[in-house]
Amino acid sequence: MRWALSPRDYRAHAVSGLAGDSTMAARCGHVMPVEAGLDDSPRAQLCAACVLAVAPTFEARGGLVNAARDADGCGEWFPDDK
Ligand SMILES: [Zn+2]
Repeated sequence: MRWALSPRDYRAHAVSGLAGDSTMAARCGHVMPVEAGLDDSPRAQLCAACVLAVAPTFEARGGLVNAARDADGCGEWFPDDK
């Protein structure tokens, strides 16, 4: 799983693939420019919808939050945030 920090909402999204010549799509449906770059670990506040999409279990979500914290992201996500 690759992650990207979107310049549009400043959340770390789980990237699902390219959405065109210059954009890529996240698992939650968010589209961002390819210039956002890719990281092995989330480096910002996690996109809640992406977390739910890629981490179906409580343990998996905990692992993601720890990975974000270790990568100097804030390691937080808010399931009620749209
Ligand atoms: Zn997302």
